[in-house]
Amino acid sequence: MAGETILSVKDLRVRFRTLDGVVEAVKGINLHVDAGETVAVVGESGSGKSQTMMAAMSLLASNGEASGVVDYRGKNLLTLGKSELNKVRGRKISMIFQEPMTSLDPLYTIGNQLMEPIRKHRGLSGAEARAEALRLLELVKIPDPERRLKSYPHEMSGGQRQRVMIAMALANDPDILIADEPTTALDVTIQAQILMLLAELQRKLGMAIVFITHDLGIVRRFADRVYVMRYGEVVEEGKADELFASPQHDYTKMLLAAEP
Ligand code: ADP
Ligand code: MG
Repeated sequence: MAGETILSVKDLRVRFRTLDGVVEAVKGINLHVDAGETVAVVGESGSGKSQTMMAAMSLLASNGEASGVVDYRGKNLLTLGKSELNKVRGRKISMIFQEPMTSLDPLYTIGNQLMEPIRKHRGLSGAEARAEALRLLELVKIPDPERRLKSYPHEMSGGQRQRVMIAMALANDPDILIADEPTTALDVTIQAQILMLLAELQRKLGMAIVFITHDLGIVRRFADRVYVMRYGEVVEEGKADELFASPQHDYTKMLLAAEP
């Protein structure tokens, strides 16, 4: 299923300046993503999973600094100019996060928030953007999409809001969807529905998914390959079935033993 390598992260380091000194959050990570595959990045809270991806997308907080190479189809995203970067980020590589409420603007309707970037990036008319927004809401199986265009974020459940975020992330037909703990804030039954949706969308659209999670159950069900992170480093990587069958690193063994 998986194809050529489209993203490769080489010797990525992330440091933050804090009042107590410098925090080394990511200490020389190497990883890659091939077309169409599902890669999981697992590890406990604080191990550097999110900041690895934030750094790769040049989205670090202002006290952070990254070094290394993040190669997307021959371009180093860490040194790319802003306008070039914006052609990749949010379009060819998009992200969804744990809490969709913080990514949606409470003051604007779902329709507004979906249509605005579609119009801006693709130069569509109002009517075309509206049709596209409806198509996206249908893609992520939001019931009654016509009505939903007029809803505000607080009028929707957490699961519905996450569906909207997925719709937005897919608006530009990305190569890679980075999903950072996309179900952690949701009820268990809703978690399963969102995971099924992501798996189905991947089959339909063929993008690669980078799944950041602390949940090994998710990794077991969905991932082709896994990177295990601890204290800012990758301690083990491999095919998911092999890693589960014969973990090499003590930390991976411990994670697996702790699985509910
Ligand atoms: P994970 O996603 O695996 O839970 P993160 O990548 O969010 O972990 O964080 C890695 C480390 O970087 C943590 O120790 C976290 O406290 C630290 N960190 C993240 N953002 C900042 C920041 N803006 N300033 C200082 N430290 C930060
Ligand atoms: Mg995180």
